[in-house]
Amino acid sequence: MPRSTVAHVDLDALRSNYRKACTLAGSANVMAVVKADGYGHGIREVASALAGETPKFAVACIEEARAIRDTGLSQPVVLLQGIHTASDIGECAANGFEPVLHSDQQLAWLERARSAPAFWLKVNSGMNRLGFFPENLSDVVGRLSRLEAFSRFSGFVTHFACADDPQSPMTAQQTERFKQATLPWPGAMRSVGNSAAHFLPGQELFDWSRPGIMLYGGSPMLGRTGLELGLKPVMSLEAPLITTRTVRAGDSVGYGAGWVATRDTVMGMVAIGYGDGYPRHAGTGTPAAVNGRRIQLIGRVSMDMLAVDLTNAPEAKVGDRVELWGNTVGVDEVALCAGTISYELLTGITARVPRAYR
Ligand code: PLP
Repeated sequence: MPRSTVAHVDLDALRSNYRKACTLAGSANVMAVVKADGYGHGIREVASALAGETPKFAVACIEEARAIRDTGLSQPVVLLQGIHTASDIGECAANGFEPVLHSDQQLAWLERARSAPAFWLKVNSGMNRLGFFPENLSDVVGRLSRLEAFSRFSGFVTHFACADDPQSPMTAQQTERFKQATLPWPGAMRSVGNSAAHFLPGQELFDWSRPGIMLYGGSPMLGRTGLELGLKPVMSLEAPLITTRTVRAGDSVGYGAGWVATRDTVMGMVAIGYGDGYPRHAGTGTPAAVNGRRIQLIGRVSMDMLAVDLTNAPEAKVGDRVELWGNTVGVDEVALCAGTISYELLTGITARVPRAYR
């Protein structure tokens, strides 16, 4: 018997979100970002479900690209973090992995390689995590253009720091910097655009966009939920009620005795906790749902269970399934209550929780 605490994954919703990204991307191609185990949904299953839709996948590292190949999928896989060792270059060339090179060290590995993969260059347009500064790009491309490997040069990549905030001037500044920096190479492809960039009116996405979170139904925008943006929830996280009882006014519930009943309250215990990746910082007031009714957490989240107030669902009984997030309660709502973002919640669900695909 599989464990009854389970993360259901709706692969049709995933495909539908991918198609929405394509519509929003206009003439740009869309590579599906499936890093971090497909944002916690299972990289093999997610990549297989999108294989008929996406021309390329993007992951962080070569280990994730291997997982896609092991699944038997043949699309090129872009490595957003580039490569970590010299020998990775040969593996990329042999397997259709396209590293995004961002350091002198990585260029040196490419220069010494016997066979070169298709590759991209990362431009640091302002995020200041990875990439070559715009003013150094001519030297970098000049250095590479002497190599046979240069025939495999795909294009330029940059990443936005503040696209989640439509009021921030930074995205326009980064776009302009990137555009100017890459102007001398009109034949090269250009890739900007995480999910948030798809929702910024008038934002240029050039040749390839790279949406991640929106594929999984999470909101990339500050203060807006995925549902408000027309995205379909992909993961429904469910756990059974394992007991119900009435606590008397004045009684406390859970560690720290921080929540105290102000009246006699029907409550239930749900078999999920931070050991499953449910956020410990989602305390009293965080929404959940049972039998389609919204309820709220009370007290602190424990490792293996959490408490809910069943005032709103007095008919709920042991064995009923509580939705922690999914169709009735958005993952973005829970993230807000926990002081984090849906990315962290989705990628944080632990291996103890089986994924069930439909
Ligand atoms: N591109 C790069 C370089 C990234 O690091 C990420 C994610 O962190 C993405 C695209 C996808 O971003 P998002 O999940 O916000 O769409």
